[in-house]
Amino acid sequence: MLKLQVRGWSEGPRILVLMLAVMLPAAGLIVFGGYYLRHLQRDKIIEAVFQRDHRQVLAIAEKRIDDRAYRIAEEASAKFPDADNAEEIDTFLTTHPDIAHAFLWAGKGSIEFRSQASRMQNSQLCAESRMLSSDFGTWWDMEGEDYIAKLKRIEATEGRHVYITDHWLTRGEKMQYQSLVLFLPRGSTPEHPALAGFLYDTDYLKNNFFPRALNDVLPNQNQGDTSHRNPQTAIMVRAEKDPHPLATSAYWDGGSPEVERSFEDVFPGLVLGIKLRGTTIADISDRLLRNEFLVLGALSLLMAAGMILTYRNVARELALAKLKSDFVSNVSHELRTPLALIRLYAETLELGRIAGHEKQQEYYEIIRKESERLTSLINNILDFSRIESGKKEYTFRETNVADLVRSTLESYRFEIEQSGFEFEQKIDNDVPPLWVDREAIARSLLNLVNNAVKYSSNEKYLAVRLYRHSNGVNLEVVDHGIGIPAKEHLKIFEKFYRVGDPLVHNTKGSGLGLSLVRHIVKAHGGDVAVESAPGKGSRFIITLPLQTVAAQ
Ligand code: ADP
Repeated sequence: MLKLQVRGWSEGPRILVLMLAVMLPAAGLIVFGGYYLRHLQRDKIIEAVFQRDHRQVLAIAEKRIDDRAYRIAEEASAKFPDADNAEEIDTFLTTHPDIAHAFLWAGKGSIEFRSQASRMQNSQLCAESRMLSSDFGTWWDMEGEDYIAKLKRIEATEGRHVYITDHWLTRGEKMQYQSLVLFLPRGSTPEHPALAGFLYDTDYLKNNFFPRALNDVLPNQNQGDTSHRNPQTAIMVRAEKDPHPLATSAYWDGGSPEVERSFEDVFPGLVLGIKLRGTTIADISDRLLRNEFLVLGALSLLMAAGMILTYRNVARELALAKLKSDFVSNVSHELRTPLALIRLYAETLELGRIAGHEKQQEYYEIIRKESERLTSLINNILDFSRIESGKKEYTFRETNVADLVRSTLESYRFEIEQSGFEFEQKIDNDVPPLWVDREAIARSLLNLVNNAVKYSSNEKYLAVRLYRHSNGVNLEVVDHGIGIPAKEHLKIFEKFYRVGDPLVHNTKGSGLGLSLVRHIVKAHGGDVAVESAPGKGSRFIITLPLQTVAAQ
């Protein structure tokens, strides 16, 4: 019974690699897909949290800025001269250089308006002062009573003495924001009501008040760390109609605020804005998203690579399966022919009908040759089977390779020459002894010689050469037969592989011979190569190193 173990060599690991190649990226994709979805949600949550936090920071900031403004205004108003002491306003202004203008209204037609003396050098500011003086006179004559009532109400309900509101003024092309502080001066009585007030100019708000107030409301930030990983906030204040900041906190790096909030109380018409330092919420989301896409892309690439690998492996397996089935039919055929011949000649001899000693000898010889062919085929199959199952063992012995080659060829020489071959044998005598498995090397040589004989239909020439070269010993088998196309040179050393040429098809073979040769030679630390062209013949070269595996 012919027992073939066709699995072996690298089947197991290969299947494992295949599984990993596809399963791992697929599993990665699935896990990452889930993670990605949750991440998307998380990104949204992060964004929402940022926004909510920012809104809270702005609300607190507004409250603190308002408190600061009230505190400063209350302090200044406390120093303001009494209602009947209007001439002291100039002194008040000297001690409060931040205040641009101050006034005292004591009933219709009675207004004292003063401006900061240092500002009067500037003709534009001087004109502005004159205009304000006249406007304020008219204005408080109309509205003064109402504001006095309003201030009394505020004092009664909120306990504050000042009311702060916005005041706009065109300076050059631009509208300037000023803060107007109103209060009841000491000495204002129901019989002689008086209203006092002063104006904080844009310059003061812009360069002094807001920068300090904004920096104070931000929590202590780590000054050195400007990395995007630990973004910190910066805030600014701007006029509602002007996107450019009026003032900013430290670390404001341009761009637009993430969240804004309009001042409701002290600074109507101004807006507070907040953003992350050095980055934006969108940037952070984008970065996260980009990273996620990169991972997704890498996983998809891995998956594609895995699929290509799988496809190639499946294709290879299919080709191998076809080779195996061809192999079975080839081997059956190869076994049947010699068996049929042996039976036929044995039966003929048995019947005793063959007259003449010579004829009988001829029949015996045929039977012997056919059984030798059978033996070598079965030896090949057994060797192959051992190699496949990893049980092939070599016994290395110090050997005179020239003798080994000579004796191996000896028993075939007659037969080869009988088949009409011109047989050339050139064995150099300076070949050093090598550590080899004699049987295996002899089998390799016979496989090559057999092939040379099998695949030489027209010009029957065979040469075997053994010679030494710099790195080792070469054993060459040369024929002038059908040759092998260049693209097949590597494949013919694969198991079961036979060239798809009709000339080859008509010749019996199992496709095992050369794969065995290669295995044997490699086990000796050597190599086998072919030089061949269709119609020109072939040269197979076995190279054995001087130091073989066993000798090392
Ligand atoms: P097979 O039993 O088919 O000869 P081998 O493994 O010995 O198997 O050879 C593989 C194939 O290589 C052969 O089928 C044949 O196509 C090609 N081949 C091998 N030796 C020769 C040669 N000397 N000349 C032409 N073709 C050859």
